[in-house]
Amino acid sequence: MIVTKAKDENKILEYLEGEDKVFIFGCGECATTCKTGGEEEVAGMKKFLKANGRVVTGFAIPDAPCIGIQVRKALRKNEKAIKESDALVIMACGLGAQCLKESLKEAKPIHVTNDTLFMGEIDKSGNFLERCSACGECILELTGGICPVTRCPKGLMNGPCGGVDKGKCEVDKELDCVWALIYNDLKERGNLHLLEAYNPPKDHSKMLKPRSRHYPK
Ligand code: SF4
Ligand code: SF4
Repeated sequence: MIVTKAKDENKILEYLEGEDKVFIFGCGECATTCKTGGEEEVAGMKKFLKANGRVVTGFAIPDAPCIGIQVRKALRKNEKAIKESDALVIMACGLGAQCLKESLKEAKPIHVTNDTLFMGEIDKSGNFLERCSACGECILELTGGICPVTRCPKGLMNGPCGGVDKGKCEVDKELDCVWALIYNDLKERGNLHLLEAYNPPKDHSKMLKPRSRHYPK
């Protein structure tokens, strides 16, 4: 999922300077999970904007506002309310915000209420953890399913740096060194031979931005 955090509400008021009528877009997927754009947060934003003299013309919470077809459907359904709005506010990630921008025909301002942080998983304690950087050439097969590209602050590809201290990372002592984790995992499963293979430096051309891929038919 895409992990987001909400910007300071006063920032949103700054964005809305001189704009009175506002339509709100939420997100039924990642931003709901992050509590930055689900039903509860959209209701909170409505209340906040009304308390600050704005008229909320309506709201929509597509399941996934990063999917164009869902955004276009929500735009059609709320055409009248959006037409009479001075601006739109989107409580989603940067993908949802840009999908809305590309789907909206009218030249209305779109204000983004969240900062987009990373692709993350959720652990059993409810923490969002960055685990994949979408490097375009996955090496998890060789590293016991643990990603050094993302979990080593230096992105080292062939074992730990000299700073590893009793299995902890020198950059952040709270973190296990990812290469210690990889070693222990491979050892436990009898796969230490995988460490004999040399991992070439990351081919950054695989991460050349902006990337695209055709939607499969
Ligand atoms: S190696 Fe790491 S960053 Fe690359 S695709 Fe696999 S999990 Fe993602
Ligand atoms: S201690 Fe381990 S995780 Fe930390 S920077 Fe060095 S190799 Fe990477």
